[in-house]
Amino acid sequence: MTHGDKIKLSILPTGTMHGDLTWLLIDPNRMASRSQPIRTRDWVEIPTHVVYIEHPAGQKLMWDAGVPRDWATRWAPTGFDEVFPVDATTDEMWLDSRLRQLGLEPGEINYLLLSHLHLDHAGNARLWQGAGTKIILDEAEKAGALSFDGHSMGGYLRSDYDNLALDTVNEDTEILPGITLLQVPGHTWGTLALQVDLADSGTMIFASDSLYLKESYGPPAIAAGIVYDSIAWFRSVEKIRAIQEKTNATIVFGHSADQLHQLRLGPHEYYT
Ligand SMILES: [Zn+2]
Repeated sequence: MTHGDKIKLSILPTGTMHGDLTWLLIDPNRMASRSQPIRTRDWVEIPTHVVYIEHPAGQKLMWDAGVPRDWATRWAPTGFDEVFPVDATTDEMWLDSRLRQLGLEPGEINYLLLSHLHLDHAGNARLWQGAGTKIILDEAEKAGALSFDGHSMGGYLRSDYDNLALDTVNEDTEILPGITLLQVPGHTWGTLALQVDLADSGTMIFASDSLYLKESYGPPAIAAGIVYDSIAWFRSVEKIRAIQEKTNATIVFGHSADQLHQLRLGPHEYYT
């Protein structure tokens, strides 16, 4: 990609996990009931992605930091290696491979924007340790993720982020013209979504884990197995819906295999 007069955006699949669908979607039709007490579990693909953006003003941005190559050992103490194994991943998908494909060193990225600090989104944030890149996340997310004792809590692995200089936002914030962080808490203390207003493709909203799947969005919205604050989660979904309706945005869901296969995928293809 070369600098032009338009924002250019590349969606890069990173590692793909497997996991039980119930983590993503609390769907009564798939659950045990009195008449069907034994239900087959749904072991599904759970892809991850990052977004690489070049701004016409010259800045480069990355949205999220994917899953780590060493997930099997790094996640073993948490048990997530069993629950969400990253076992459907090819070598070119890991984030360090993606950076090489883009011809970039981590420090050449001006902004690393993190939707939240769960281990499947901040797994490679340490690539940016000391790189001079401005790392930005929600203020409440940072406070929450540093609030517990010990090396992990839920989907948080403290070593993923505790040595990083983390800048924060505490309201919806336009980082650069056309690139806005939206506060959508609920999945975690301070989950963010990313709104990008593109010249040719219109507005895209990268929902990250505020919306895992199209089925989560509804209407009606259907919550997931991992929600820190379900009231805030529903409010955040309706906030996204209001923006979507106003801008006719394309919503890119956080972990949708069906949708990811239908999108233009980087590094060779991009949206403007
Ligand atoms: Zn998450």
